[in-house]
Amino acid sequence: MNTRVTALTDLDLESLPALLKRHGCPPSHARTLFRNFYDNSGSLDWQAIEVGARVRRLFDGEISQRQSTILRSHTSGDGTTKLLVGMANGGAVESVLMPSHRPDRAAGCVSSQLGCAMGCDFCASTKNGFERNLSAGEIVEQFLHLRATAASIGRRLTSLVFMGMGEPMLNLPEVIGAIRRIAHGQMGSLGWRQITVSTVGIVPGIDALAEANLNVHLALSLHAPDDETRAKLVPMNRRYPVALIVEAARRFQERTGRICTIEYCLIRDVNDTDDHARQLASLMSGFRAHVNVIPYNPIGLGLSGREYRRPSYERVIEFVDLLRDQGVVAHVRATRGDDVNAACGQLRQAQLVESPQSGGPPPRVAQASSL
Ligand code: SF4
Repeated sequence: MNTRVTALTDLDLESLPALLKRHGCPPSHARTLFRNFYDNSGSLDWQAIEVGARVRRLFDGEISQRQSTILRSHTSGDGTTKLLVGMANGGAVESVLMPSHRPDRAAGCVSSQLGCAMGCDFCASTKNGFERNLSAGEIVEQFLHLRATAASIGRRLTSLVFMGMGEPMLNLPEVIGAIRRIAHGQMGSLGWRQITVSTVGIVPGIDALAEANLNVHLALSLHAPDDETRAKLVPMNRRYPVALIVEAARRFQERTGRICTIEYCLIRDVNDTDDHARQLASLMSGFRAHVNVIPYNPIGLGLSGREYRRPSYERVIEFVDLLRDQGVVAHVRATRGDDVNAACGQLRQAQLVESPQSGGPPPRVAQASSL
């Protein structure tokens, strides 16, 4: 991307007015432009905006409307749509649209980094390592693509999770910038409470997110209640062990009043014993959290060379019942879109295997939205 060109999604209610002012345009046009752009699924409808020719000219060189395009899109039998979004600055990330049980709604999942350095052994996103952080605008554009995709099937995007590729807490300034744009009533208008940020447990990031006072939810990818099991699945556990991250999540709750989500990917003969369920229940004692038990979605060999397997349906139910018997609020979260490589990072991984070149920079995206 031409470094002189700034994408509109990388600007906010402070930087766009300043840019307009620098070019002799009324800063107050920023609100009009944003309102129109976000209401119109990420493209400006010039017919509907009353701004001068000088503002229009800025969009011929200084500001671009888009910095991404959908490279691939697959919809599974259960209605889950997975998008591979190519970035003008290079690389491609995954975004997922999941229809809700309500016929008019859908939830979205966005990526925060290109690749991931965390090395979780059961995750496809980390197989090619970390490439770079996404900008706030690149994250916002995934939201816009998802919202337009939802609208195209008669649904409204009503919630968003930062649970795709990457560790959001390691790109927190851009993630916070994206959240502000997505949630703000004069921009994306999704609402703060409709957004959840997920982490493997980067303690300073959890504290910083709480301090940012954004009114969003926190999800902790725990996956095991003890350090020995967890360190094999999530290498970052060696730096931030279970006790520390649960303590940080409790601090987040005290500060924000939000109920936390605990993500627990259930893997056969790894973290699915009665003992694991009992330890998890005791860890949750006095903590307002709900546990999402997610049956493992196979990705082939993990980084360690180990091949993990999904537990039987009966075992998943037994595990959840054990948690509930001990007073834990627990649900099974259905694995969605198995036939479209729906687990974290799988569509991108498939694209890299099919055409190794395509993981690199896609062609410059034209200003007109490809949505
Ligand atoms: S689970 Fe999340 S943090 Fe872990 S490797 Fe995958 S994308 Fe990264």
